[in-house]
Amino acid sequence: MLIDGHGRKVNYLRVSVTERCNFRCQYCMPEKPFSWVPKENLLSFEELFMFIKVAMDEGVDKIRITGGEPLLREDLDSFIKMINDHNPDVDLAMTTNGFLLPEASQRLKDAGLKRLNISLDSLKADVAAKIAQKDVLPQVLKGIDKALEVGLKVKLNMVPLKGINDDEIVDILDYAQQNGMKVRFIEYMENRHADQSLRGMHGKEILAKVKEKYTIRALGREGASPSFNYIIEETGYEFGLIDPHKHDFCESCNRIRLTAEGFLIPCLYFDEAMSIADHVKKGDIEGASQVLAQVLKDKPKENRWSDENTDDEDISSRAFYETGG
Ligand code: SAM
Ligand code: SF4
Repeated sequence: MLIDGHGRKVNYLRVSVTERCNFRCQYCMPEKPFSWVPKENLLSFEELFMFIKVAMDEGVDKIRITGGEPLLREDLDSFIKMINDHNPDVDLAMTTNGFLLPEASQRLKDAGLKRLNISLDSLKADVAAKIAQKDVLPQVLKGIDKALEVGLKVKLNMVPLKGINDDEIVDILDYAQQNGMKVRFIEYMENRHADQSLRGMHGKEILAKVKEKYTIRALGREGASPSFNYIIEETGYEFGLIDPHKHDFCESCNRIRLTAEGFLIPCLYFDEAMSIADHVKKGDIEGASQVLAQVLKDKPKENRWSDENTDDEDISSRAFYETGG
């Protein structure tokens, strides 16, 4: 079992397989980065898997593939199959913008993927195009339909932004509700790569929008998840709110992150990371395992996202598209 320096059990690994993306979301990657990580610096799937196996054998039973846009990485289904073949009971999920799902869903399902989180910030084509800086909505909606059709469990992620999509919170909730998907509203997290004119919505403002139509009751956190759940009294539908500006979920944080270059990141908020790249390139499993132990020991107690802290020098300079969100 993996236990961190604050006594928390760590059983969840998020793996970013690429930082590249086919969208340019204003809150994440408004400009194409000056330079991408050169392809030769990316770990191969075999190298990533060598570490993942170590982590799984030591107690990780929940893995999420993310990015950048993970579906841009070729042969992703072969990577999913490697993980699933090693332990078919692992809770294997992926976060995607959905654009490539019409073509990829069946292959992902066949390879052993169980769940998908799909980002959907608007149901209006022009607003979705404004946020992603590309005409994405028709293809993303097709992708959602296809994923559901092949039998993948789907959750939706929405980042509400003031003056942009804040009038669509209930519409997205109703769309998710009607199509049998859970939606999770994510508070915008300030970061230096985002369009600095953006203003996010607080959890309580998001809930106030839902309350204009529905009566809601708080249910509490779902295990170690950062999502706080609510139920709609009129329909029995449950949705989630991820509010990192409150830090109470840090207490039960169970996750670490691995980037496509092989950096192990103990907390999204801070810059600290250690590389396993040299170890896995040499097949040095013991070395990779020691780095994992050190990262767990150093895992910070909590993040420091807050309204006052937007200029905090400690906020990670790493972008969400590098860490995988
Ligand atoms: N490209 C995929 C996608 O968009 O779903 C996966 C990677 S993306 C970095 C993972 C999640 O991070 C998405 O749900 C996205 O909405 C969220 N995200 C990105 N930047 C964010 C920010 N500044 N604040 C809150 N959530 C953010
Ligand atoms: Fe790409 Fe996802 Fe970032 Fe949007 S949030 S730019 S889709 S990585």
